[in-house]
Amino acid sequence: MADDHASSREQETAARRIRVLLPLPLPEALDYLGPEGSSPPEPGSFVNVPLGQRSLTGVVWDGAGEELPADRLKPIIETLPTPRLQPELRRFVERVAAYTMAPPGAVLRMTMSVPEALLSPRPRRLCSASPIGMAALDGPRTETRLTPARRRVLEVLCAGQPMPAAEAARLAACGTGVVRDLITAKLVEERFASAEIPTSPSPDWRLCGPQLSPDQSIAAQRLVSSVEATGFRVTVLDGVTGSGKTETYFAALAAALAAGRQVLVLLPEIALGAQWLERFRQRFGALPAQWHSDMTAAERRDTWRAVAAGRARVVVGARSALFLPFPELGLVIVDEEHDPSYKQEDGVIYQARDMAVLRASLAGIPIILVSATPSLETVVNVARGRYQRVALPRRHAAAELPAVRLVDLRRERIERGRFLSPPLVAELAATFEAGEQALLFLNRRGYAPLTLCRACGHRFQCPSCTAWLVEHRFTGRLLCHHCGHAEAVPACCPECLAAGALVPCGPGVERLLEEVTERFPAARTALMVSDLLSGPRAAAELAQGMIERRYDLLIGTQIVAKGHHFPMLTLVGVVDADLGLAGGDLRAAERTYQLLHQVGGRAGRAEHKGRVLIQTWMPDQPVMKALAAGDRDRFLEAEAAARRHAGLPPFGRLAALIVSAGDAETADFTARALSRAAPQLPGVTVLGPAPAPLAVLRSRHRRRFLVKAGRDVRLQAVLRDWLSRIRTAGSARIQIDIDPYSFL
Ligand code: ADP
Ligand code: ZN
Repeated sequence: MADDHASSREQETAARRIRVLLPLPLPEALDYLGPEGSSPPEPGSFVNVPLGQRSLTGVVWDGAGEELPADRLKPIIETLPTPRLQPELRRFVERVAAYTMAPPGAVLRMTMSVPEALLSPRPRRLCSASPIGMAALDGPRTETRLTPARRRVLEVLCAGQPMPAAEAARLAACGTGVVRDLITAKLVEERFASAEIPTSPSPDWRLCGPQLSPDQSIAAQRLVSSVEATGFRVTVLDGVTGSGKTETYFAALAAALAAGRQVLVLLPEIALGAQWLERFRQRFGALPAQWHSDMTAAERRDTWRAVAAGRARVVVGARSALFLPFPELGLVIVDEEHDPSYKQEDGVIYQARDMAVLRASLAGIPIILVSATPSLETVVNVARGRYQRVALPRRHAAAELPAVRLVDLRRERIERGRFLSPPLVAELAATFEAGEQALLFLNRRGYAPLTLCRACGHRFQCPSCTAWLVEHRFTGRLLCHHCGHAEAVPACCPECLAAGALVPCGPGVERLLEEVTERFPAARTALMVSDLLSGPRAAAELAQGMIERRYDLLIGTQIVAKGHHFPMLTLVGVVDADLGLAGGDLRAAERTYQLLHQVGGRAGRAEHKGRVLIQTWMPDQPVMKALAAGDRDRFLEAEAAARRHAGLPPFGRLAALIVSAGDAETADFTARALSRAAPQLPGVTVLGPAPAPLAVLRSRHRRRFLVKAGRDVRLQAVLRDWLSRIRTAGSARIQIDIDPYSFL
C-alpha cells in the first residue's frame, strides 16, 4: 500500500519533468519540474527557474531529459505571460548552434536579448474621455467651455485607445497641463491599466508605388509569385547599381503584407540610413519597426514585444534582427547580401545571410537576396540551380553606368606627401567647373596609418595589439583601430626625445582633406567617416547636404559606399584601390571588386553621366581589369575557378581555430597540444599553428589553425572530436570560426 503510494508519486513527479534551455553557454538544456497539480508549461514557454542562488529566465525546450532522478530536480518558479517561442525558432536556435558550434544557450540569448521585454508591461496611467467629456465634445449644451486645445485632446481620446497623458498631449499638440486640467475637470478619466504602447500605424501595402519600368515589372512579378507560391525558395535579385532593386523588392514586400505575413528586411548596419527609411515611408505610408545597435533599451523592449505579438508587420534591421521572435514571418529580404558585415565576428560567430537562408528554410518561406555584386557563394548556388536568379541589367530611367578608368600610379608623378594623381586632380577641377559633385574614396580613417620619428625611426605601436597606432589629427590622438587604445600625440619622440621629428606615413581621409583644401580652396568639402559623425542622424544630415548641393566634394571611407543616391554626383575617385588586396584573405579580390564597384556606382545615378577613376599600382591585377572592363561575370568565373582549384569555399569547407591566452607560452602550449591531437582523416587538411597576423590583440596572444575539408566532410563533427581530445588550461581559450571571413 505504502509502496503503491510512493510509486504513483514518483510517476506524478516524472510527468512534471521538463527541460529548460537557459541563455547561458551551457552544453544543453537543464531539467526542472513543472508546477505541482497543473500541466507543465508547453515547449517554447518562458519560465523563471532557480540556478544556484540566482533566478533566471529560460525557455521550456522540447523533449524530456532523464539525467537526474526526479526527486533531485528543482521546480520552476513561474511561467511568464510572454508569447511562446515558436517551434520554428527553437529549431533555428538548435541548427545555428550546431552549425556554428556555439552552445545552444548562447544562441538562445540572441533571441531573448531584451530581458525586460519578457515581463508584463508595467501598469501605467492611461487617459480616456469621460462621459461628460464626450458630451462636451458633442454640443454646446453643457456649461463647460472648451478651448481649442482642450477640444483637440478630447477628440484624440475619443478617436483612439486609452493612452498616457503625455501621448494625448503630443497628439493634440499641446502641453500635458491641458490634459491635467481636463482630468481635474472630470472631462477625462485616468486609470491604471497594463497596456502596450499604442503601436505606430502599420505600413500599408494598398498604397501604390511608382510606375515600374518594364524590366522592373518582370522582376517584381517573379518575386511576387515566389511570395504567393509560399514555401521555401531563394531568389537572387541581381541588378546593377541604380537599377531600382529597392522599388522592385518593395513589390514582394507588399505581397507578403497583403497575405497577412510579417516581413524581415536585413540591411548592413551602415546602409540602414535615413534614405532607405524615407523611401519605405513614401512607399508604404509609415515607417517599419527598426532593429539596430543604436537603440535605447526602451525601444528594444517595445520592438521585441511588438514583433512577438505580431503588431510589428515589417522589421528592418541589422543582422541580429534575424533572431527576433516573429510569429508570422512570411518573407525575408537580405539587401546587399554580399556585404562582409553580415558576418558577426564575436560571441556566436555566424554569417547572417547564410543563417537567414536557414531560417527561411525552417519556416518554409521565400527569401530574396539582393545585390549588384552577389557573393561568389550566391553565384555558385545559382549555377548549381539551388537559387533562382532575377536580373535587372539596366539603370533606371536615363541613367547610364559610369565609365571606369584606371590610373597607373607607376607612371604618374605625385609629390611626396600627396596622394592625388594629375589625372584625378584634372577630373576634380573639371567636375567643380561644371558645377557637379565628386566623391573621393579612401578606406582609411584618421590622418596617417603610421607615425614614425624621423630622428630615430621609432614607430608608434599599440601596447596591447600587434598594430600601429593611427594618428587622428582632428582629435589630436593616436588610436589603435583594433582595441580602441588612445593616447595624445606627444610633442617629442618618446624614444629619442627629438622634438618636432614625428612624421606621418601614408594617407588617411583627414590627410586627403588637407590636400584637397590646398589644391581646391574654394571647394566645399565634407568628410564622411564614422569616428567624426556622432551617429546616424549626423550621417543623414551630411547626405542631405550632398543632395541639396551644399557640398562639392565628399571624402569618405566605406560608409559612403552604400545606399546613397546623390543625383549631382558625377565623379568618383578611388585613392588607393590596392588597400584591400594585401594579406591572406581568400575573399580579398572578391571584396575589393564589390567595394570598388559599389563606390563607383555612386557616380552618375541621374541624368549626368558618371566617371570613376581608380588609382592603382597594379593595373594588371584581374580585379582592376574587371573593374575597368565592367566585366563582373568574367571576373567571378576566374575567381570561382581559382577557388575550386584550391578547394576553398564555396567548393570546400573551411574553419579557423583561434587559440588565445594571456601569455605567449600558454598560447603556444595549447597550440602544440591541439597540433598533436589534430585529425588525420582523408579529405581534411590542418594548416598551422601559426601566429595570427594580429599576434597580440587586447593583450591576448593568438595562434591560428585553418582546417580545410571537402564538401562531403562533416566538418563540425571532425572539430568536435578534435576538441574533445584536448584540455585547455589557465587563460587559454579556443574559438571556432566556421567559414571564416576574417583571417587576422
Ligand atoms: P539600386 O538599389 O538598384 O541601386 P534604387 O532602388 O536605389 O537602385 O533606385 C535608384 C533610383 O531610381 C532611386 O532614386 C529610385 O527612387 C529611382 N527609381 C527606381 N525605380 C524607379 C521607378 N520605377 N520609378 C521612379 N523612380 C525609380
Ligand atoms: Zn590595440
